[in-house]
Amino acid sequence: MKLSFQTPIVRHNGEYINREDATEHHINHSLHYGTWVFEWIRFYNTDLWPKVFKLKEHIERFLYSASVMGMQHNWTYQELYDATLETVARSGETDGYIRPIMYYGQWKMWVYPDPTKIQVECYISVWKRWKYLSDDPIKVKISKTRRIHPDTSDMSAKISGHYANSTIVSLEIKKEWYDEGLLLDTNWYIAEGPWENIFFIRWNKVFTPQLGTILPWITRATIIELFKKEHNITIKEVMIHPNDLMTYDEAFFVGTAAEVTPIASITTESWDIHTYTSGNSESYTMKMKHLYDDVVKWKVKVYIHWLS
Ligand code: PMP
Repeated sequence: MKLSFQTPIVRHNGEYINREDATEHHINHSLHYGTWVFEWIRFYNTDLWPKVFKLKEHIERFLYSASVMGMQHNWTYQELYDATLETVARSGETDGYIRPIMYYGQWKMWVYPDPTKIQVECYISVWKRWKYLSDDPIKVKISKTRRIHPDTSDMSAKISGHYANSTIVSLEIKKEWYDEGLLLDTNWYIAEGPWENIFFIRWNKVFTPQLGTILPWITRATIIELFKKEHNITIKEVMIHPNDLMTYDEAFFVGTAAEVTPIASITTESWDIHTYTSGNSESYTMKMKHLYDDVVKWKVKVYIHWLS
């Protein structure tokens, strides 16, 4: 099936092939057991040519996730880095997403992926940009479903199986007409969205859930660094209880797709609605949203090292 947002050339292992030829067998270890690992990377139109944001960090996390899944392969950091840029160049697109995936291929169906018997495959594809969350402040609800406990998996790895948890949350939230869900951990502290990390602001203090149950690293780390460098604010990485929600003035989501998305309100499981001033033009959230937008489009030259 032709999907208009996907571009025609994909990279499979070492070769560039037509997307129509990138077919998968239905009997494949990763499909059956949720063991694919992947990234979701953004490239932006800049004054010069399309540039990929934080490619180094994404490739590092990709290789880390593959190692958590025990994947034995010969793709080096440099090869995947160069191949990602080459796939973007071949797509002809200037503004979009890149999806590298690595997985266990056909036929060998034991849960244990015996490295002497099972083939590891790698694809890189490029997708045209579309908007994931609205630019306007969004309505969020705390889901009934908890984030996966960190003792049950490695939450620093981007493994497809974790996204069954995110999908269940999204289904629940969309049924109630909210824009996005928010997951608590199994101790009832705020963890993250199904596809993004969260920040809160009270006066001049900025808070975000500490590492453990959440996917760490890329946009979250960018925002922490930008607050420090541009506003001299050190983010407090803490445990945040739903009872704290009423004490904050602003809240926003961050992520490769979400970028900086202001949150208008968060509804708790007991239907308390907390509203935020995140969308006001003078808010820290909006300042950070505009700054992030300038940084990723290379309008702020000091952060050029984040672009490839
Ligand atoms: N948490 C989850 C569960 C995610 O899927 C994502 C998106 N990859 C994020 C956080 C944000 O991560 P990143 O900044 O690397 O996009």
